[in-house]
Amino acid sequence: MTDIAANLAKVRATLPDGVALVAVSKYHPAQAVAQAYAAGQRRFAESRLQQLQQKAPLLPGDIEWHFIGHLQTNKVRKVLQYASLIESVDTTHLLQCIDDTAAQTGRTARVLLQVHVAAEQTKTGFTPGQLLDFFAEKRYQTLKATHICGLMAMATNTTDTARIDADFATVAGLKRQINLMCPDLRGFDTLSMGMSGDYLQAIAQGADMVRIGTAIFGEPEI
Ligand SMILES: *Cc1c(COP(=O)(O)O)cnc(C)c1O
Repeated sequence: MTDIAANLAKVRATLPDGVALVAVSKYHPAQAVAQAYAAGQRRFAESRLQQLQQKAPLLPGDIEWHFIGHLQTNKVRKVLQYASLIESVDTTHLLQCIDDTAAQTGRTARVLLQVHVAAEQTKTGFTPGQLLDFFAEKRYQTLKATHICGLMAMATNTTDTARIDADFATVAGLKRQINLMCPDLRGFDTLSMGMSGDYLQAIAQGADMVRIGTAIFGEPEI
């Protein structure tokens, strides 16, 4: 059996101060989340609404759930009920839908914009050009009920560590550029990058939030 508490301790020991750990519990049962919770973990992430809906009610209310999967607009309302941070906003259309829904329900949505830097076409997100256009045009100023807290990205899935470093460096550079370009943009601080296989590289490039699944929960039994 996977020793979740021991794995968590190992991962935590490698994280510098100021780096937030998000435990990615997708494909793992609520019981696994409960074990991590008992070991002190409070931030978890799911990639599907159905999983979130199944697990969240079974678990303590002070868990901070993040959503990290591709999100369809028809699921935004429900995801907003559970997630305190949607990390995977990959189009302006989705962002607009989140903003409208949050405004209707009288709450503030917190989101990260997902940047596509990886080689794989299966990954989604704003291209660097789209992202810079969005901020250059100050399109965030029209949001009514959404706080853009930063950027999320995945590196190319490769053994080429130089490519992974380059992907993370690109995203960190985009964040710096946006901060300079948009001094009125408050609280655009978070850089969520790094998974089990590459989080130390991500931190070296400036990540202050890492999303770790396998190294904590083991391989999922799908
Ligand atoms: C699954 C997933 C992770 C965690 O990946 P591991 O390799 O299991 O640590 C992180 N981020 C996103 C967006 C994911 O979908």
